[in-house]
Amino acid sequence: MTALAIGVRYSAELEHAADFRGFRDGVRRLWLAGVAPRDVAWTVGPPAQGLFEAAPSASSLRAPRPEEAPRVPKAFVDLSRLVICHKAPDRFALAHRILVRLQDEPTLLKVATDPDIARAEMMAKNVRRCSHKMKAFVRFRSTADPDGGERFVAWFEPEHHTLDLTAGFFERRFAGMRWSILTPDRSAHWDGAQLTMAGGASKDLAPDGDINEDLWRTYFGAIFNPARLKVQTMQSEMPKRYWKNMPEAALIQPLIRSATQTTGDMIAAEPRAPARSTRVARERLAEERAVAGLSGSIASLEDLAAAARHCERCPLHGPATQTVLGEGPRDAPLMFVGEQPGDQEDIAGRPFVGPAGQLFDDALEAAGIARDKIFVTNAVKHFKFEPRGKRRIHQKPGLSEIDHCRFWLQEERRLVRPQLTVALGATAARSLSGKAVTISKARGRVMDWPDGGAGFVTVHPSYLLRLPGAEARDNEMRRFIDDLNVIKEAVWG
Ligand code: SF4
Repeated sequence: MTALAIGVRYSAELEHAADFRGFRDGVRRLWLAGVAPRDVAWTVGPPAQGLFEAAPSASSLRAPRPEEAPRVPKAFVDLSRLVICHKAPDRFALAHRILVRLQDEPTLLKVATDPDIARAEMMAKNVRRCSHKMKAFVRFRSTADPDGGERFVAWFEPEHHTLDLTAGFFERRFAGMRWSILTPDRSAHWDGAQLTMAGGASKDLAPDGDINEDLWRTYFGAIFNPARLKVQTMQSEMPKRYWKNMPEAALIQPLIRSATQTTGDMIAAEPRAPARSTRVARERLAEERAVAGLSGSIASLEDLAAAARHCERCPLHGPATQTVLGEGPRDAPLMFVGEQPGDQEDIAGRPFVGPAGQLFDDALEAAGIARDKIFVTNAVKHFKFEPRGKRRIHQKPGLSEIDHCRFWLQEERRLVRPQLTVALGATAARSLSGKAVTISKARGRVMDWPDGGAGFVTVHPSYLLRLPGAEARDNEMRRFIDDLNVIKEAVWG
């Protein structure tokens, strides 16, 4: 509840702190009545009683008919939807002011130096970031549902009012279980069929811990790579404010303390010759990097991971859990490129850890290639799937998604500079060559990718998993291992 300020002519009441529908309704009525943004006090909940209660409500003004409504571009709708989720008290007044100005300045949103637009964009960026943090750091705890069965409950304290904005992600991601996310000023509840938003909750309502806590701690300890540790980057990506609700946080300080020694033990790599690269490919990559606003700023795989974490270049970022980049030594002479993360990779945040990854490991071992000497990644960095009941069914990425995501693969290749890059399947071959490739024609020989780097094409391990019958699978596994032997010979002689 916000007290009205002296001089206001109208109060505009909203149901909750990020009530976009209420804001849109109120701002339309105010605009039609010609009320200036400075004359409005936006309040969450009923207006304050007492001294300033005399200001009439915006809801008493007439709502415009469709032909009378203010005209705004869709970009304003998208921007204001984010801005009103910010915690700044003047967020509604700012969005209101931009709407009024747009009537006389239709290209206002393109003026990045305008103080209102610069502030709104900054607020939208903060909100987007807060929403990403919520997706990454919400930790559900198992508890008994009052209606019977199990319910997963999470307590979270977002920096901004982002639960309404982000609840759809959890609905898609955890469609098969009943869950609640509680925050101080808003809560979301999913019963397996319907999402309900309600008021805030207190932390006491969320369970403290359950059997999954140990699992999180084990998982975090396993994925922690001391050679990649940058304490400042880590704390900016995983701010301390979220630690208290994360079971794995108890491990962070001990792991940081032990990292220096462990890293020293790991520095044993020999320098190697850089891969070839044509001028045209370099220019194209430089153009893409400039368009992405990343020119010169990505100097390491850690920088790349930080930049890709919030990628929204194609729609696949929406339903997926996280961006899954490649992993392996920075100076790996051999890079394998698969299609996209699968269900298990999407959850773990690592490539090739699901069933196809296990088969791939078996084949590598049979060919005598150590997995810790190679870099493994995917052509597309987000999991594309179709929800079906409790399951997420893999879907092949489209050409547009492959082409949008090629940028990240090129960056990985620029940083790792492998001597040989292997396409596992048609999606990877399309990404690396920029055109459709028939696997049966291209398979089995060392060739050059268009950027000049040495390449090789073979099947994706998931192809072997799909083959009907043990005999066909055995035959194809042998062919796949033969390919790996040719690759090993080409790289290590
Ligand atoms: S799939 Fe690739 S391009 Fe698309 S959002 Fe994810 S990282 Fe970005």
